[in-house]
Amino acid sequence: MTPVIAATREELAAARSAAKGALALVPTMGALHEGHRSLIREARRRADAVAVSIFVNPLQFGPNEDFDRYPRTFQADLEACAAEGVDIVFAPSREVMYPGEPEVTVRSGPMGERVEGAARPGHFDGMLTVVLKLLNLVRPDVAVFGQKDAQQLAMIRRMVADLNVPVEIVGAPTVREQDGLALSSRNRYLSEDERRTALALSRALYAGADAADEGPDAVVGAAGAVLDKAAAADPPLELDYLVLVDPSTFLQVTTGYTGPAVLAVAGRVGATHLIDNLPLQLVTPKER
Ligand code: AMP
Repeated sequence: MTPVIAATREELAAARSAAKGALALVPTMGALHEGHRSLIREARRRADAVAVSIFVNPLQFGPNEDFDRYPRTFQADLEACAAEGVDIVFAPSREVMYPGEPEVTVRSGPMGERVEGAARPGHFDGMLTVVLKLLNLVRPDVAVFGQKDAQQLAMIRRMVADLNVPVEIVGAPTVREQDGLALSSRNRYLSEDERRTALALSRALYAGADAADEGPDAVVGAAGAVLDKAAAADPPLELDYLVLVDPSTFLQVTTGYTGPAVLAVAGRVGATHLIDNLPLQLVTPKER
C-alpha cells in the first residue's frame, strides 16, 4: 500500500479527514531504520490508521550541531513506510512548519535543563515546540516515541500532562544491533573504528545493569569503568555524561535509592554524538 503523502497543512487535513477510526502518529526526523519501524508497528497495534511525520526540526539543533549534515533519505523513507503499511506520511517543508520565526514556543522548564538539556541548551524547548505543533496538526489519538530518547519521552509525557494535550503517549523499547549498539540515524556517520569505540556505550550500560542489586554507586561505578577504557581507546570516546536518574524527573538518584531508574550515557566519537540508556530497577537491600 502506498501512503498518502501530505506536504502542506491542507493536504494533511484532507488525509486526516479521510482516515477512519483511531489514528496513531509516529514523529521522526527521517533516515528511517529498524528502530523507527518498530515504533510504526507499535502504532499499528494501537490504532486503525498510522501517520508518520518526517521533519528535521531546525529549532532543536544548536548552532554547532549537525542540522545541515543530518541524513535526509526521503525516497528510502517512503519505501519503508509503504512496507510497514503506513497510511499517511506528513513531510512538511520548513516554510510549512515555520512560516515565520515563531514568537511563542514551549518552555521545557527545569527538566529541560537537566542531563541532555544541560549538554544541549534549548534542545528540549525546540523539540517540545515541534511535537506540540505536530500533535495539533495531525490530531492523533495516540503518539509513539522511542525509549532510546528517554528524556525526550519523559518530557513529552510531562508536557501532555501539564498542558492537557488530548493524546495518549506510548513508549516503545530501544532496538539494537546484535552487538548492542542502539540503532540511530547518526550511526551511518561512524567509521569501522569509531563504531568499535561507540560499542562502549551499550557495554557500559549492561555492566551497570549487572550491578543493579548493589545500589546506585555500584551501577555508576561499573558503567564508568567501561567508559574510562573507551576514553583511552583509538579513536577515543569523549564522554558528555553518565548519570543514573529518576525516569520521570531526570534528577540523579543518590546512594540508597530504590525503585525505577534510567542509566543514561552520551558521548562523542569523532564528530558523531551518540546517546543511549537502559531502564533499571534498583532493589531494597533486603530484596538483594
Ligand atoms: P529521530 O528520527 O531520531 O528523531 O527519532 C524518531 C523516533 O524514533 C523517536 O521517538 C526516537 O526515540 C525513536 N527511535 C530512534 N532510534 C530508536 C531505536 N534504536 N529504537 C527505538 N526507537 C528509536
